[in-house]
Amino acid sequence: MTVKTRFAPSPTGFLHVGGARTALYSWLQARANNGEFVLRIEDTDLERSTQEACDAILEGMEWLGLNWDEGPYYQTKRFDRYNEVIDRMLAEGTAYKCYCSRERIEALREEQAAKGERMKYDGCCRDQAPRDTDEPFVIRFKNPTEGSVVFDDHVRGRIEIGNAELDDLIIARTEGTPTYNFCVVVDDWDMGITCVVRGEDHINNTPRQINILKALGAPIPEYAHVAMILGDDGAKLSKRHGAVSVMQYRDDGYLPEALLNYLVRLGWSHGDQEVFSIDEMKQYFKLDDINKAASAFNTEKLIWLNQHYIKTLDPEYVASHLEWHMHDQNIDMSNGPKLAELVPVLSERAKTLKDLAASTRYFYEDFTEFDEAAAKKHLRGVALEPLQLIQKKFAELASWDQASLHQAIEDTAAELEVGMGKVGMPLRVAITGAGQSPGVDVTALLIGRTRCEQRIAKAIEFVANRINS
Ligand code: GLU
Repeated sequence: MTVKTRFAPSPTGFLHVGGARTALYSWLQARANNGEFVLRIEDTDLERSTQEACDAILEGMEWLGLNWDEGPYYQTKRFDRYNEVIDRMLAEGTAYKCYCSRERIEALREEQAAKGERMKYDGCCRDQAPRDTDEPFVIRFKNPTEGSVVFDDHVRGRIEIGNAELDDLIIARTEGTPTYNFCVVVDDWDMGITCVVRGEDHINNTPRQINILKALGAPIPEYAHVAMILGDDGAKLSKRHGAVSVMQYRDDGYLPEALLNYLVRLGWSHGDQEVFSIDEMKQYFKLDDINKAASAFNTEKLIWLNQHYIKTLDPEYVASHLEWHMHDQNIDMSNGPKLAELVPVLSERAKTLKDLAASTRYFYEDFTEFDEAAAKKHLRGVALEPLQLIQKKFAELASWDQASLHQAIEDTAAELEVGMGKVGMPLRVAITGAGQSPGVDVTALLIGRTRCEQRIAKAIEFVANRINS
């Protein structure tokens, strides 16, 4: 049987890291088993669902690369189907109309509360003959009264709930709209879901959903209820802990590979391996290896993984993500090196793509001023001679390549009988405006000949002015 899983977010906000991890586990369960992955938007709560949130969720899934084979389905477009199933259940006697007034239910609740009992519908309308009346009603599922519901959760193990503890769940409201738990059941059935991966906040729904599935004669999927993610202070992860929206991680300069690797390890392990390519995740992922305990978010580790992927993934690929940040930081790339050429050169120092983008600016745009501290230290009178000689040597170069540039710098130092740093540092400040950059030869190479010549001339002028003032 083909494994079929789904991610079923309610579009009431952005895709947060908890949801993304659930989506990842569900997606991996499908991918690891050559199965299919369905995306379903659970938008029946009309007051809380928004189009904006739907778009944000799809954007997050796409950015993470969690592709779906079917969907997105929208529950609001499936009301006819839900009503059809409700009619069938009424006809078959697995559901019934309940005419109990709000007042009666309220009184029942108070009575049960007074006795210290849990609120439970008393089944007043359960076995009554159909009525010919215009009175308002809800439709309830006829939950079995005997026996129990048992399921083997992939994360939590065996769970057993006595049917006596379960209510006759309302499956359609007075206005006729189907309720959330019911829609989930019909969807999982219709969509052929074989394995439900979701947050453990839904674990109480599972026995009810299983009972309804049984009443419909539908197959029962497997279940995996995933624990919560906590912040590094042990409290439930929230905005207070910084970024919680997946897209915020993009904005902050993380690669999807880093976030996915981080999330997969947050609550799942395979030996003591920390770094997983997507292919390795697909190869090793097993629901049974998900931890039962809640996991705590650790930003340091995410940064470490991000650096790792910036340094090791194909520069062309990294550049494709870097481009977003170039636009975000208004760096005009029309005049300068190919972005992918800069990636290996600059990635050593960058923790995020945001830093990386910022460090490319002088390759594309002229700066108006030298960094004050760097200029003070390196563009002094003693730098005049080295800068003039390197200017001359650069002008004479037959070819603007890294080896020739390196040689020119070395020759300048040798001719002047000074250390390489006495040439390299003024040159660096001259062409980058700052005191830090990758190797000065490769930096000069990528900045390009014309720009370097202009910038060196400007630095010479700066030093000369300084000597004269
Ligand atoms: N829509 C639910 C949520 O966003 C998920 C329900 C499910 O996966 O069954 O929490």
